[in-house]
Amino acid sequence: MDRAFVKEKIAERIAEIDQELKIHPERRSDLAWQKIWQNQPRQYPVLSLNRITDISAGEGKSAPHPFSSPEEHLLTKLDDLTRPLALLNPIAPILPTGLGPGTLATCFGLTVQAEAGYVPATSLSLAQALKQGMPDPEKSGWLPLIKQEILVARELTPSWMKIALPDTQGPFNLAHLILGNESFTAPFTQPEKFFSYLEIVTEFFVEVNKKFREWITAERLPEGKVDSVSIAECSVNLVSADFYRRFILPFDLRVAKNWKYVDIHTCSGPHVFQVTLDSFPNLVATEAGFIEKACAGWTPVELAVRLIQGRQIILRIGEELPADFNQAEEYVKKRLLLARNNHQLSFSFTGMYWKKTDEPAIRKLHRRLDDFWAKEVWPLACGGKN
Ligand SMILES: [Zn+2]
Repeated sequence: MDRAFVKEKIAERIAEIDQELKIHPERRSDLAWQKIWQNQPRQYPVLSLNRITDISAGEGKSAPHPFSSPEEHLLTKLDDLTRPLALLNPIAPILPTGLGPGTLATCFGLTVQAEAGYVPATSLSLAQALKQGMPDPEKSGWLPLIKQEILVARELTPSWMKIALPDTQGPFNLAHLILGNESFTAPFTQPEKFFSYLEIVTEFFVEVNKKFREWITAERLPEGKVDSVSIAECSVNLVSADFYRRFILPFDLRVAKNWKYVDIHTCSGPHVFQVTLDSFPNLVATEAGFIEKACAGWTPVELAVRLIQGRQIILRIGEELPADFNQAEEYVKKRLLLARNNHQLSFSFTGMYWKKTDEPAIRKLHRRLDDFWAKEVWPLACGGKN
């Protein structure tokens, strides 16, 4: 497609999105998050009710290389933006950027597998990684393509359309991505070299995060992202709390110093939840919820709510639901009731056994939960002006 034609399509699509956003205030996660940040009750639950990829329905085929033309790539993302409405799930005028968890792997010279969600197909030894040193935080790997992606989004979309930060993981997740299994043994077998390398990765993480904010600009960043940094700690669930304190926390704290707030993706790991809650005075958001097959277990929501009490911390609740729709309904309702007294909760649920053919039932359940919120949560939410 030629550029002028694509630009025309982009403008048309933006006008459509503008309309869809206006007629669905009840699905707007951006509006819900404004309330969550302000610790105010919200009129709509804006909860997510999902199913996983249904291979039996032919889903889960690989995605094409996204950077063939930045304009066409933008158009694809705009097309996807209101797709969650099909399951009555949240939408927002926020454009994703980057390539998911593996986004920074190419900066370290690693080959990524598009069909597996851009995760690295190779790893480096600690000796190789140290020899290679810190990648250029602006020019290495796919960073120039991501910069172009961001600049095109800024140029071709209006200012009310926000631009999300790419997924930069966290210092230890990156070390795991680069070094593979050696990231778990090197702290004991080559502690000095491990610490030297983590320093390099941490500096890169901070520099890249600053660059992305510079490229996107404060005006275009989504709510809360100017002052906060996200650290994903998934790999910490493979080590002990003591390992985290000794070998990972010092670097996370170094990251945290650069921003007003820290937002932790715990992957629901119980010791990650506890240690990060204890260690970061500026913790602004964390996570909890039932995940059946998690390596290190999961953080119960009731416990998490109790532990954060008295601190202004956003709790993202992410949980797996039973296959039975009645059981799932009772489960979610119990969670929604927590919002009567806590306005800093977000809700995301996934039916791990639900198939594509269950979609009508998922939508019906969604409507029942919306009604429940309207009758049992919103009118009784304390502190609101409703
Ligand atoms: Zn994770």
